[in-house]
Amino acid sequence: MAILEKQTSQQLIALENEYGAHNYHPLPVVLSKGEGVYVWDVDGKQYYDFLSAYSAVNQGHCHPKIVNAMMEQAQTLTLTSRAFYNDILGKYEKFACDFFGFDKLLPMNTGAEAVETALKLCRKWAYEVKGIDENQAEIIVCKNNFHGRTTTIISFSNDAVARQNFGPYTNGFIKVEYDNLEALESTLKSQPNVAGFLVEPIQGEAGVYVPGEGYLAKAKALCEQYNVLFIADEVQTGIARTGKLLAVNHEDVTPDILILGKALSGGVYPVSAVLANNSIMNVIKPGSHGSTFGGNPIAAAVAIAALEVVRDENLANNAEILGNVFRKELNTYIETSNIVNLVRGKGLLNAIVINDYEDSDTAWNICLALRDNGLLAKPTHGNIIRFAPPLVMNEEQLLDCVGIIIRTLKQFEV
Ligand SMILES: *Cc1c(COP(=O)(O)O)cnc(C)c1O
Repeated sequence: MAILEKQTSQQLIALENEYGAHNYHPLPVVLSKGEGVYVWDVDGKQYYDFLSAYSAVNQGHCHPKIVNAMMEQAQTLTLTSRAFYNDILGKYEKFACDFFGFDKLLPMNTGAEAVETALKLCRKWAYEVKGIDENQAEIIVCKNNFHGRTTTIISFSNDAVARQNFGPYTNGFIKVEYDNLEALESTLKSQPNVAGFLVEPIQGEAGVYVPGEGYLAKAKALCEQYNVLFIADEVQTGIARTGKLLAVNHEDVTPDILILGKALSGGVYPVSAVLANNSIMNVIKPGSHGSTFGGNPIAAAVAIAALEVVRDENLANNAEILGNVFRKELNTYIETSNIVNLVRGKGLLNAIVINDYEDSDTAWNICLALRDNGLLAKPTHGNIIRFAPPLVMNEEQLLDCVGIIIRTLKQFEV
C-alpha cells in the first residue's frame, strides 16, 4: 500500500488505529480540507464544523490572512530560540499586551503549557512578593475543571480517566465547588497560604457550565480582599468565542493572570500565552522558565494575524448576535422536544443536554446522525453535546445549521 495512494476513510481510520496511540475516540469522519465554516471529508462530502477544534478555529478554517502570515514568515525566519532576539517577537508582545490590556506576555505553545506557566508564575509571586513560606503555597481550583493534560494539571482534575494510574500527583491545590462563592470565601478565610485562584470563566470541557451572573466579579473581589491572584484560563472561552473578546469581559473583570491558547493561533499553529502586569510578571528572571519554540517568529506572525482578524471582522459581536439567535431557536424547539432538556451557553459556546442517562450512547448516536446530515459536533461528557462553530459564520448559515440540528434531533424523539 503506497503512502500517496488515495485511501478510503476506512483505510485511513485503520491506519490511525494501528499506528497511533489510542488516546482519543474520534467521530468516524476523515477530513481532508477546510475553508471558513466548512470542512470536507476524503470523499468530498461537505460539513459545517460545529466544534472548531475545541474553539481553536474561531477565525474559520484556513483563514487566508492568517495562512499568508504563516507562509511569509515560514519563508523568512522560523526559529531562533530565545538564545537570540528576533525581529517580530517584541512586536507581537506589544501588540498582544495592548490588545488585552496587560504589561507583559510570556509566550508558550500549547494551552497546557500556558496553564503550567501561570501556576509557576503564581507560586513564584507567592514566595517572592506575597511572602508565603517556602513550599507552602496553595492554589485554589474548581471541581470539574479542565486545564490540560500535564502531570501537574491532572493532579487537580477530578476526571477519573484522565488521572488513573498517572500518579504520584503534584501537591499544593485545593478544590472548591465551581460557581460557589461561599466555598471560595471559606477556603480563602481558613487557608492563609493561598496564592491564586485558577478558574475557567465558563467550564467548557465539563459541558459548557455558565456560572451565575456576578460569580466572576465577586470571586475577583474576594481574591483582591485576600491578596490572592485571580487566574483566568481563557484558552477555550477567550478570543471572541463567548461574544466578548474575553469571557471575563462580560463582568468587567481584569484577571491578574490571563491564560490564552487555542484561537490565539486561528488554528493554524500552536500558540499560547500568559499575560500579567509587571508587579507579577517581573518575578520571572532569565533561566527560571522557558521553551525552545515559545515565541518563535512563525508563532508571533500567526498570532498577530489571528488577533487582527478577530478585531477587523468583529468576531466577538458576531458571536454575541448569532449565539442569541442559536439559543432562541433551540429553546423554541426544546419547548416541545422530549429528547433535549436544555440549551445553555454564551456567544457561540453552547451545549445541549440530552434527555437520557449520563452514560447512554444517545449523544454519540446523535452526533453520528448530525454527521450524516452534514454537521460535525461531539459529546463533551456523556449526554452533553457542545456546539461551537467558527465565529466567521453568517446568520443564513447558522439558521441552516439550526435546521440540520433540529431535524436530526427529531429523528431521536421517542
Ligand atoms: C484546551 C484547553 C486547555 C489545554 O490546551 P492544550 O492546547 O490542549 O494543551 C487548557 N484549558 C482549557 C480551558 C482548555 O479548553
